[in-house]
Amino acid sequence: MSIDNALGLEHTYAAALEGLYAPIDPAGFPQPALLLLNRPLATALGLDPAWLEAHGAAVLSGSAVLEGTRPLAQAYAGHQFGHFNPRLGDGRALLIGEVVDPAGHRFDLHLKGAGTTPFSRQGDGRAALDSALREYIVSEAMHALGIPTTRSLAVVTTGETILRQRAAPGAVLTRVAASHLRIGTLELFASLDDRDALQRLVQYSLQRHYPERAHGGAVALLEAVASAQARLIARWMAVGFVHGVMNTDNVALSGETIDFGPCAFMDAYDPDTVFSQIDQQGRYRFGHQPGIGAWNMARMAEALLELLADDRQAAIELGQATLDRFQSELRATWLDLMRAKLGLPGAEDDDGALIQALLDAMARARADYTLTFRRLADGLEHETQPDLHPEIRAWLPRWRARLGASAPKQMNQVNPLYIPRNHKVEEALSAALAGDLGPTTRLLEVLARPFEAQPGCEAYAEPAPESFGCYQTHCNT
Ligand code: AMP
Ligand code: MG
Repeated sequence: MSIDNALGLEHTYAAALEGLYAPIDPAGFPQPALLLLNRPLATALGLDPAWLEAHGAAVLSGSAVLEGTRPLAQAYAGHQFGHFNPRLGDGRALLIGEVVDPAGHRFDLHLKGAGTTPFSRQGDGRAALDSALREYIVSEAMHALGIPTTRSLAVVTTGETILRQRAAPGAVLTRVAASHLRIGTLELFASLDDRDALQRLVQYSLQRHYPERAHGGAVALLEAVASAQARLIARWMAVGFVHGVMNTDNVALSGETIDFGPCAFMDAYDPDTVFSQIDQQGRYRFGHQPGIGAWNMARMAEALLELLADDRQAAIELGQATLDRFQSELRATWLDLMRAKLGLPGAEDDDGALIQALLDAMARARADYTLTFRRLADGLEHETQPDLHPEIRAWLPRWRARLGASAPKQMNQVNPLYIPRNHKVEEALSAALAGDLGPTTRLLEVLARPFEAQPGCEAYAEPAPESFGCYQTHCNT
């Protein structure tokens, strides 16, 4: 079935990057149904929510293709858990096209779970409803927290039942991303030794994400991505987010958080936190994320090495200098974010030590990462700190001395009260699998305003009860 291209989808990626994708005629699904539509996002993108209500089930499941457009599966390579895989690609996702919003920003519309592609390998190309909803909830929460991220436009159920950790309805998530260009996309052409194609890809990536640097070539792209990733990972660290699978194919050149698989937010602060069941070595544990970010940037520098400079030694030095800047920018950004979380005015040399002392106390106290900062702020207002563990109370005089007489900034404007708590997410997903979407929509409403106390929503701010136990996530592929 084909219908009028009312979404105005474009295909600049397909036009510019022949060889980096496979065109797909999606099989579609006999009984797709629109379950969730993100109307505010649709409107922000300049898409008509009423049109999506009417045609979303067909179009956003790949069961109908818009006239003049051609869905495609993107090819990429990537380092997975440290090992290079030369042949990855969209195994369960399709790019149906690009939309340009009223402000002129271009976004990919990507259908995750729309069926098999030439990159599916052993996979079935499908996604389960709980994993689609999980990505929807967590990515929209990230957006509300002000963290660069791909977003979620819709969830369509397919009418099929599929088997993962548990039997679940099949579903397709419509992901909206500034693009799906990844470090792994560059690694694919680099591994094929196709210098011209790599050059074309660099140029396309610059035009799309860093147009002001479009004349700077591979060096400009490397520097821009390093800076964007440094700022992104600093934000994850400030909010207690564990991505869980920072493979180079899951690192977006745009600097958006992408691929919400086994990710989760920490409750109790512990830098060794790992949620993903497949991350046995803790490679992607919370405290390791800055180091992994640097490792990933080194892979990007390697992929671009031939284009960085004519002379190999000069190229290596350039790459190294970018890595050094990545690390210092990440640290500086993180320090600024943490200063804001603690309401510190200005910047002083000892701030790093002051912040580290608090984190060490929080680790010993197994304090809730999110709530500790809210309690610190509340304590300042009320001159008491009743809810704080003695380990943290012992640190308070240092903080108060640093604050001095200055009124601390509005801490609660940068410290969220609501994050997607794992037990709340699981509760919502279980209800959804049982046919009740209520807890999911309620959770989405609360998470859309993470900094503001919402009457009646106290339970959403609380850490998981003991009975919830140790949380493990799955890739759910
Ligand atoms: P991810 O862990 O989501 O980054 O996925 C890694 C790779 O496996 C990507 O190339 C995916 O397209 C592919 N993949 C994941 N799940 C499936 C599936 N159910 N069917 C086919 N390919 C999949
Ligand atoms: Mg991926």
